[in-house]
Order: sequence, then structure tokens, then C-alpha cells
Amino acid sequence: MTARIIDGKAIAAELRARVAGEASRVKRESGLTAGLAVVLVGNDPASEIYVRNKQRETQAAGMVSFEHRLPADVSQAELLALVGKLNRDPAVHGILVQLPLPKSLHTETVINAIDPAKDVDGLHPQNAGRLAGGFAALSPCTPLGCIILTKSVHASLEGLNAIVIGRSTLVGRPLLQLLLNENATVTIAHSRSRELSKLCARADLVYAAVGKAEMVRGDWIKPGATVIDVGINRLAAADGKNRLVGDVAFAEASQVAGAITPVPGGVGQMTVACLLVNTLRAACAIAGLPKPAV
Ligand code: NAP
Repeated sequence: MTARIIDGKAIAAELRARVAGEASRVKRESGLTAGLAVVLVGNDPASEIYVRNKQRETQAAGMVSFEHRLPADVSQAELLALVGKLNRDPAVHGILVQLPLPKSLHTETVINAIDPAKDVDGLHPQNAGRLAGGFAALSPCTPLGCIILTKSVHASLEGLNAIVIGRSTLVGRPLLQLLLNENATVTIAHSRSRELSKLCARADLVYAAVGKAEMVRGDWIKPGATVIDVGINRLAAADGKNRLVGDVAFAEASQVAGAITPVPGGVGQMTVACLLVNTLRAACAIAGLPKPAV
């Protein structure tokens, strides 16, 4: 079997176009322009690229992007003061503090300071708790993207066996909750799990969010399963440049799976598109407007 490649780039482009259409309708009908504030502390090269992409895509979707750059040695009090200011700013509907923060800052305190209604990264404990309780919440963008990619293959996830490998706050845990909301039967695995290959072999849906290059092998995959690879790992290539690979051994797994995401070109593209979705949803909720159709 050769798996169908799930084209994250095309699915993300289609989602961004739908967000732009809805953002324009909301603006036309109610005068509301959604605004996203991104806070970047320090100059981590990967974070710089992510922030630039977010800013470009936000503007392309017809929303306003506010960028705040702070030096790596900014104090916790100064960062919290900026978050407080953004919480009070009526033009800002989404606040994203780019992670990781420099070690001198306390990430949890900063996340907790964000108004949960503007927490478009879905990391505030109030949103995480609401999601875990099965209530409406702003959910983290990468897991949201994983669900959309899965639904491009399966109209319904009801009753499917899913395995999520990785239990981070950013990916694995919220993905578990979103899959439960879709009525999938979910196993969540982590570094202490035993016989991971056997757990994987039962799964109709495999989500790898570990951060270990090509850890999930082809012979772990149930024939015909859908494989969503969240991992982004940089490997040194023979030409001296870096090569991006996922947490799944793509060449092997694509011989067995029914559908699989590539790295790059899979989940990564969806994360920013879902950030736009969350920003528009947050803007409408804050303004007391109906939920947009994205
Ligand atoms: P993380 O916080 O480091 O969590 C990694 C998880 O993997 C942990 O739960 C860990 O278990 C588990 N793990 C580690 N070794 C394992 C093993 N041998 N077997 C089974 N589980 C193991 O990472 P993350 O933030 O979730 O990110 C995971 C990957 O996704 C990274 O490559 C990251 O770059 C990528 N990512 C991509 C996007 C995107 O937009 N595409 C977004 C976010 C992250 P313990 O809990 O037991 O330590």
C-alpha cells in the first residue's frame, strides 16, 4: 500500500481563505476588525521566523497584527505590564506570547496573566480546564490543526482507536481532549509507556508528538491507518545543510498507512491557520457576535 499524502499546505491555504472571507463578512456587517498581538521576547531565530509568518498571515486574512518585541533581559514585571496593557486594549482580541521564553522569565505566570478570552494559544489554565471538562474553549492551535487534517480523511472519528504519542501541554494533552470530543477511543503514550509499538499497532489514528526524529517505524503502523506527524526535527544532511524530518519514519510508514502527513508540509502549516481561526472566534465572542463559520 502507498499512503495518500495529506496536503497540509493546501488544507491550510483553504482554511486561511475561509477565515479571510469570514473576517471580511464580520467587518462588513458589524465594523469589527479582529486584532492579534504577538509578543516576542529575545531573538531566538526559530521564534523570529514563526512570528514573521504569523504577522504576514494575520494581515493577509484582513486582521490587524500588533507586534511587540522585548529584549531578552526584560524583567518579569515589564512583560506582565505589557500583557496587562494588551488585556485592556479593545483593538486586541488575541494575545500570543511566543514560547519558549528566556529562562529568567516564569512562563506559567506570564500565561496565567493573559485574559482567557484573548488566549488564542489556548494555554491558560481556564481554557485547558474547560477543554478537559468538555466545555467550549479556545484550544491550542497545533492539536486543532491535527483534527482538521484527520477530518480531511475521515468524515467522522467516532469509535476509531487513536493513539497520541506525547503528553505535552501544548500538543498531546489538548489533542487527547479534542479526540475525545470527536468520540474517538484514545490512548495517550509517553516516555514511560511500555510496548509502544504494540499500542500503536492497534490504532486507526496515530499522532506522533515526541520530538524524536523518525522514532515511529513503519512496522508499528496498522495497515491503512491515518498517521499525523507533529514532530519537527532538524537532521544534518550530507551537504552540510539541515533537513527537517518528523517523528515518523515517513518512507517506511507511507508503505503501510492509508494516509500520512509529510514533514514539512503537514501539521506545521495548520498551526498558523488555526491561530487565525482562534483570533476571529475570540474577537466575535468578546464583541458578543455569533461564532464565525470557521
Ligand atoms: P515536549 O513538550 O518535549 O513533549 C514530548 C513528549 O514526548 C513528552 O510527553 C514525552 O514524554 C514524550 N516522549 C519523549 N520520548 C518518548 C519516547 N521515547 N516514547 C514515547 N514518548 C516519548 O514536545 P512538544 O512541545 O509536544 O512537541 C513535540 C514535537 O512536535 C516536537 O518535535 C516539536 O518541535 C513539534 N511541534 C510541532 C508543531 C507544529 O506546528 N508542527 C507545534 C508544536 C510542536 P514524558 O511526558 O514522559 O516526558
